[in-house]
Order: sequence, then C-alpha cells, then structure tokens
Amino acid sequence: MCHALLQDSRFFRLLLQIDIELAAQSRAGGCQCGGVLHCANYPRKPRACLNEIREDYEWRFSFCCHLCRKRATSMSVRFLGRRVYLGLAVVLMSAGRTEASPEVAELSKLLAVPVRTIQRWRSWWAAQFPATPLWQAACARFMPPVDLSQLPGSLIERFAGPAAESLMRLLVFLSPLTVRHPVTLNEGC
Ligand SMILES: [Zn+2]
Repeated sequence: MCHALLQDSRFFRLLLQIDIELAAQSRAGGCQCGGVLHCANYPRKPRACLNEIREDYEWRFSFCCHLCRKRATSMSVRFLGRRVYLGLAVVLMSAGRTEASPEVAELSKLLAVPVRTIQRWRSWWAAQFPATPLWQAACARFMPPVDLSQLPGSLIERFAGPAAESLMRLLVFLSPLTVRHPVTLNEGC
C-alpha cells in the first residue's frame, strides 16, 4: 500500500488543483434555471490532514445560484462526501486485511485517526459502497470482478501505475460519490 502519500504535501496540492478544475467545470455549467453560480464554499475542519496543506483543505468548493439560490457543490478528490477526514485517508487507511498492521497503527497515531473511525470506514466499504449508484453503474467495467470482501484494497489494485498516479485516478473515479446527485461517470477508469 502507498501510505507514504498520506504524508506527501505535493500530492495533496495536486489534488487541490484537480478540485479547482472540477469546481470551474461546475461553475461554467451554471444553474439549471439559467442563473449564474456564485461562490459559496463550505468551511471544513479537515482531519488526517498535514499542517502544511491545512489552509488548502479548509474549504469545500460550492456555489449558489443568484436567481433560485439552489446549491451546486462540485465533485471533489480531496473529500469523500461529508466526512471531515480527507478522502485519501478513507481510501488508504481502510485497505488491507487487518487494522493492526504496524503501518496503519503508526499512521493512525500520527494523523490522529481513531481505530474505531477506521472500522467505520471499513464497514462503509463493505456494506454501503457496493450499493452506491456509482458502483452499480461502474462495477461491470472491472473484469474479473472486484472482490467486494476486500474493498477498498481490491479496488486500489485495479488502478495500475505509480502510486501517486493510480491513487489520483481512483479518487477521480470516486469523486461522483462526493455529491448528492452525480451527473456523469468519469470515463477511462
Ligand atoms: Zn438557479
């Protein structure tokens, strides 16, 4: 597993750049009513977050229509839904067969992620993730099928390449999960 990425501020800056692009795309799409989207970011108190990138992770990009006031929150590779923990931590720290692996135990101390939180993530991967519209729509693309009993490790393995590149593509793949009404799936996972 590529746990080193959890302490790699360059990687987190790259994720910020992707989020900035995703936000620009949502904004350019405008509101369904024809209104213009104005910046209305949500403040975040990010956890499992390095101090040197904290400033970049204190906002979730979101917009508000100037006519109907409807919210449009853009997809994100930094956050996985409404969780306060960074998406990368939710992916990497819940992978593997046992939470007692020395690497995860050390990281959980270093990044202040309680073991029960990691267990909660594992249950989410096992019970809820397979039922999400994203997975329901995308699972057939993975051949042979992804072993659901080993999520998320079995999914990470399918994104080949150097760790940074493969994790980045996985987070992009998961990004529709971060909004309530995912519009389209990303091609080329
Ligand atoms: Zn509107």
